[in-house]
Amino acid sequence: MRIDTRLSERIKKINPSATLAITSKANKLKAEGKDVVSFAAGEPDVDTPDVVKEAAIAAIHSGFTKYTPTTGIPDLKKAIAEKFKRDNGLAYETSQIVVSCGAKHSIFNTLFVLLNRSEEAIIPAPFWVSYPEMAHLCEAGVKFIKTTPENNFKITPAELERHIHAKTKLLILNSPSNPTGCVYSKEELQAIAAICVSQKIFVVSDEIYEKIIFDGQKHVSIGSLGKEIYDLTITVNGLSKSHSMTGWRIGYLGGPADIVEAIGKLQDHSTSNPTSIAQKAALAALQMPDAFSQTMCAEFEKRRNYIASRLDKMKKISYVKPQGAFYIFCSIAKTKLDSFTFAQRLLDEMLVAVIPGQSFGADTCIRISFATGMQQIEKGMNRLDEFLKKL
Ligand code: PMP
Ligand code: GLU
Repeated sequence: MRIDTRLSERIKKINPSATLAITSKANKLKAEGKDVVSFAAGEPDVDTPDVVKEAAIAAIHSGFTKYTPTTGIPDLKKAIAEKFKRDNGLAYETSQIVVSCGAKHSIFNTLFVLLNRSEEAIIPAPFWVSYPEMAHLCEAGVKFIKTTPENNFKITPAELERHIHAKTKLLILNSPSNPTGCVYSKEELQAIAAICVSQKIFVVSDEIYEKIIFDGQKHVSIGSLGKEIYDLTITVNGLSKSHSMTGWRIGYLGGPADIVEAIGKLQDHSTSNPTSIAQKAALAALQMPDAFSQTMCAEFEKRRNYIASRLDKMKKISYVKPQGAFYIFCSIAKTKLDSFTFAQRLLDEMLVAVIPGQSFGADTCIRISFATGMQQIEKGMNRLDEFLKKL
């Protein structure tokens, strides 16, 4: 009888991922031979480094193809602990680290072990598509803090304070941000940290775009700003963006021992360990010099500058120059089109794919990804210009 209800109430409330759906639609059109320019992709357009591939091949040949400890192999966790120390000033013991199947998985696990049904996550908007859905999967509530272009899409300490109440359990912070590219400075993070400490809420700090940061800025990890905030922070990172390893599915987190232990239990009974082969590949990636990420970052900065110079000349669009990640979040308010209509028409009429801002909580915006080559970017910008002129 119970099968009549079929799907759980939990899953019925969840929206599909627009970023994944539109990216695959654009790829499908390309495969059919259509001359699509895709500004949809949320992954670097360079290949995974050879040393990483070789480490994975060696792992296969040596028979490293069995279960590993659930939370990751000791040498990878050691390399992650060293990375946190070196790059982020974060001292995590290996027992405070969990390796998971992508940063997405790390964030989901964190929310799952922290959020009760009656509790809320604070999410600055625009937000990455998966945060609210993950909180909903945990049957928790979400409180958005709407940010504005005038404030570079960043929350202010006063806004944060205003949104915290008895049910608030945690804040999800993403710097550099997807989709806006905003980057929080050390001072801004200090002010946010002070509030989280005084109000006793956790911070889930998604630092996946750490290595893609422009204009000589330095990424700061909020958990490094003192013992009190360290004890409240779960720092999430991964290899997807820094080493162009999106398909390998390796992410990781560091955090307070009890939370990390709970995440270990959750993984024990859900995914078990992330793929053994990919863990060896991740270890090789973490042992590489930073030159790979730096070269990629310099290329992204060039593309950002080019796109900005083109958008500056377009009348019906405005944007805030991103300080990191590989997206430009543009306002299309002047066109009077909602973001889905805009994106649909741009794809149908000009064969250019962008992600509608509605999926990120901002229906007057679109997201342009510049994780695609310069020639494609030029072509896409020409088409966007033409499209806007005829609107
Ligand atoms: N956080 C943000 C903000 C992202 O854009 C992504 C991209 N997928 C992720 C987390 C997850 O990355 P992955 O699961 O590939 O490590
Ligand atoms: N994070 C990327 C994006 O925003 C990849 C797709 C996804 O996992 O959502 O496009």
